[in-house]
Amino acid sequence: MAPNSSPAQGGKAYKYVDHSYDVIVVGAGGAGLRATLGMAEQGFKTACITKVFPTRSHTVAAQGGIAASLTNMTPDCWQWHLYDTVKGSDWLGDVDAMQYLAMEAPKAVYELEHYGVPFSRNEEGKIYQRPFGGHMQNYGEGPPVQRTCAAADRTGHAILHTLYGQSLRNNAEFFIEYFALDLIMSDDGRCTGVVAWNLDDGTIHRFAAKMVVLATGGYGRAYFSATSAHTCTGDGGGMIARAGLPLQDMEFVQFHPTGIYGAGCLITEGARGEGGYLVNSEGERFMERYAPSAKDLASRDVVSRCMTLEIREGRGVGKNKDHIYLHLDHLDPAVLHERLPGISESAKIFAGVDVTCEPIPVLPTVHYNMGGIPTNYWGEVLNADSQNPERIAPGLMAVGEAGCASVHGANRLGSNSLIDLVVFGRAAAIRAGQVIDKSEPVPALNSAACDKIMERFDRVRFASGATPTAVARDKMQRAMQEDAAVFRTQEALESGCRRISAIWKGELQDLKVTDRSMVWNSDLVETLELHNLMANAITTVHGAEARKESRGSHAREDYATGPLGGRDDVNWRKHTLAWVSEAGDVKLDYRPVHTDLIAEGIDPQKIAPKARVY
Ligand SMILES: Cc1cc2nc3c(=O)[nH]c(=O)nc-3n(C[C@H](O)[C@H](O)[C@H](O)COP(=O)(O)OP(=O)(O)OC[C@H]3O[C@@H](n4cnc5c(N)ncnc54)[C@H](O)[C@@H]3O)c2cc1C
Repeated sequence: MAPNSSPAQGGKAYKYVDHSYDVIVVGAGGAGLRATLGMAEQGFKTACITKVFPTRSHTVAAQGGIAASLTNMTPDCWQWHLYDTVKGSDWLGDVDAMQYLAMEAPKAVYELEHYGVPFSRNEEGKIYQRPFGGHMQNYGEGPPVQRTCAAADRTGHAILHTLYGQSLRNNAEFFIEYFALDLIMSDDGRCTGVVAWNLDDGTIHRFAAKMVVLATGGYGRAYFSATSAHTCTGDGGGMIARAGLPLQDMEFVQFHPTGIYGAGCLITEGARGEGGYLVNSEGERFMERYAPSAKDLASRDVVSRCMTLEIREGRGVGKNKDHIYLHLDHLDPAVLHERLPGISESAKIFAGVDVTCEPIPVLPTVHYNMGGIPTNYWGEVLNADSQNPERIAPGLMAVGEAGCASVHGANRLGSNSLIDLVVFGRAAAIRAGQVIDKSEPVPALNSAACDKIMERFDRVRFASGATPTAVARDKMQRAMQEDAAVFRTQEALESGCRRISAIWKGELQDLKVTDRSMVWNSDLVETLELHNLMANAITTVHGAEARKESRGSHAREDYATGPLGGRDDVNWRKHTLAWVSEAGDVKLDYRPVHTDLIAEGIDPQKIAPKARVY
């Protein structure tokens, strides 16, 4: 029987099922599973909570591959990978985290191989690697490097299945189809666990833990058109905001150049890596004009802007001249079959196109969130402000797209997310091994905090206003799509702040949840997700409005010129921190970018800020 409750009884009416673990990981995507596996391997009593079955996490959709300087196809080294990542981030990423990523990447990929990931092979039988946008040889001076390790165009699928199997093998426990509601915070600001709702039988569970790892993924669904799954609703960011902690660099949202026009599904950058190219209505390969050396393999923010300009200037394709063509039809059908079978299928299903003889209609589509929960490069969450830029929130870690270490800065390079998941999932486990004492008792549950969490849950469950959740969500998604887009202006961003704040104070307080039940109540799940999306959306538009420069994915038409193309390193080479109150008021502060290397082997001058051209 599902426990019952009425609004009059408040949160106290729920009966709790209590658990106690060394480590709780929330999320079973690539990041959550790699952390879970690393924790379980060390003998920590570990549980992973996930709202979808592990292998249905969005990581399963990752196509193109995972970056590491293995040198299986072309010369490469971690120094070049670091340089490309720094440049890709438009000098906003933290150098210590980026160096850790580039140096640890080969180890992390070989580990995946040994765990059983079925990578594609080159002729020598080594892991196959393809070119990807922004990854070049010789500190950006040479031709594209083949750095992106791939299992055909189903790399995420292969990684996820392998990591899930390995986690089970190491006795990690899984709570599947449990929706994490909120973090249990102690009065002195330590995270001591998490409260979750079992979607399948309606029970409420309190998990006490020495360490909680948030690996809840991105918030692409704050936008109308996104390549991400409908489950990418920034729940971790929502929990962090409600715990009174800051989110970082939320204004940086990546648009992928090649979402399928109309459907939004992704065509991997690997398609251009294998030789695909973009053309406008005049049949021109326009990227040659904008990025003479990298061409179609310039980084994503650059290609998305060029496509948008072509369309604006009347050279879009189709009846409404509102998209661009991606050609793969000149490639050998055997290559398409072997290296890109998944996207050949997607193009057929979602655009009705046979890639062997027709171009795919594409449009820049929201794809990735560079911002998220601030952490150091061990995955420890930061309760930072300008006075205490490195202060740790004890008991709490964040990894994967939910986190912001920050290795992607203002723009992420393709194939650098999958490697981020496994390098930092692994780093979090290593760090936990140093800071968690197995012999210490698990912290006691803070009952008052749990009751408050359930009071909020009850307010949402029994919301009886006039606005259906889908209506409020649509309004938010359209505002974000229109006002925080590929190109931004002060006027649009002010409008975005006004619109999102009005939804927070209006529709969000006036929601109508029609289903009050506790078992498979998708109406309630979507409403909880909308609350989380709104915390992400409001910090995104406010951070963007405040940032008076162009950097990476944050391209402001009113700050477009200058020696660095509108980038202002003197005033703005810093991370945004954003808090949002229950009433929807946003507070901003800033913390410095880390510029120090953590190991020798590269001349610091190599990664010093300069203009970013491809
Ligand atoms: C179509 C597509 C293709 C991509 N291709 C590539 C690529 O080729 N290379 C690359 O490097 N990157 C790629 N990316 C980016 C990359 O795949 C993602 O950034 C990455 O997979 C995110 O992984 P994650 O582990 O952080 O989160 P996800 O894989 O999104 O997993 C989130 C997990 O959190 C759980 N969760 C969330 N909220 C809750 C809650 N409230 N309670 C309980 N559980 C919760 C979910 O159940 C899920 O298990 C791609 C992205 C997309 C959308």
